[in-house]
Amino acid sequence: MPEIRGEKIWLDGKLVDWDDARVHVLTHTLHYGVGVFEGIRGYKTDDGRSALFRLGDHVQRLEQSAKINLMEMPYTQNEISTAILETLKANHLEEGYVRPIAFLGEGAMGLYPADNPVRVAIIAWPWGAYLGEEGMERGIRAKVSTFSRHHVNAKLTKGKTCGDYVNSILAKREAVLDGYDEAVMLDTQGLVSECTGENIFLVNDGQLRTPQLPTILGGITRNSIMQVALDKGMEVVEAPITRDELYIADEVFLTGTAAEVTPIREIDRRTVGSGARGPIAKLLQKAFFSIVSGNEPKYERWLTYF
Ligand SMILES: *Cc1c(COP(=O)(O)O)cnc(C)c1O
Repeated sequence: MPEIRGEKIWLDGKLVDWDDARVHVLTHTLHYGVGVFEGIRGYKTDDGRSALFRLGDHVQRLEQSAKINLMEMPYTQNEISTAILETLKANHLEEGYVRPIAFLGEGAMGLYPADNPVRVAIIAWPWGAYLGEEGMERGIRAKVSTFSRHHVNAKLTKGKTCGDYVNSILAKREAVLDGYDEAVMLDTQGLVSECTGENIFLVNDGQLRTPQLPTILGGITRNSIMQVALDKGMEVVEAPITRDELYIADEVFLTGTAAEVTPIREIDRRTVGSGARGPIAKLLQKAFFSIVSGNEPKYERWLTYF
């Protein structure tokens, strides 16, 4: 993996040199994980410009994640959006991944973060297919994790909270060390929830099904793919999925800002469908990339040019 290194990072209101974007070891979030982040992608559009995908929705979710965690954002959503655009420009990026993060700085060291400041950083870097180009075309191999998704009243599922990703990383490492690409996580009742940082869909007889919102993070990519599928006349339902339903589905794929639309070709050593990217996943991938390339006037509202 290439080293991530750009020119500038936005930190607490201003652009600083990449190497100067440092924090103290007493940063509260480093110890206890109360911080929130987003992942946003920018794409080159076919007319030679560049656009962020659903910027407003991501910035809104960042603020909601902060609210869930009783963190008061020191910047408005408009200020964050402007800062994201400035960060991309300062790094001369035409496409890539943007990572805004809000975290608790130094101050109290106990679990009660009295007046520790809420600090914000925005980092941007080039990032290709999260699960590999080959995974996008052939599909990836997944295993159902031995780790459950957090109970909804343990992890509050609607925020992208730093500390919650310990659970995702336990599952991701287990999967990769066992020779798989990704983990499918079940909720505490044993129903399919989502992957470590992606939502999951199955396809049967042309109908799409994805788990309901309670135990999952309602992804912006999930929402986009649902809208596109509905617009294409497909049936889309949010309903429970059991582990074995994944084994016998025609197709399974996952969605996320990082993973975009990635097919799953095998789960727990059972071949899914034909064992390759299925026609619906292929069609939705194509639609997704056409949208982010600026070729679909109907979804132009999802793009913020920069
Ligand atoms: C970020 C994330 C997703 C995908 O959300 P997008 O808005 O599509 O990027 C799904 N599940 C989890 C746990 C996530 O953290």
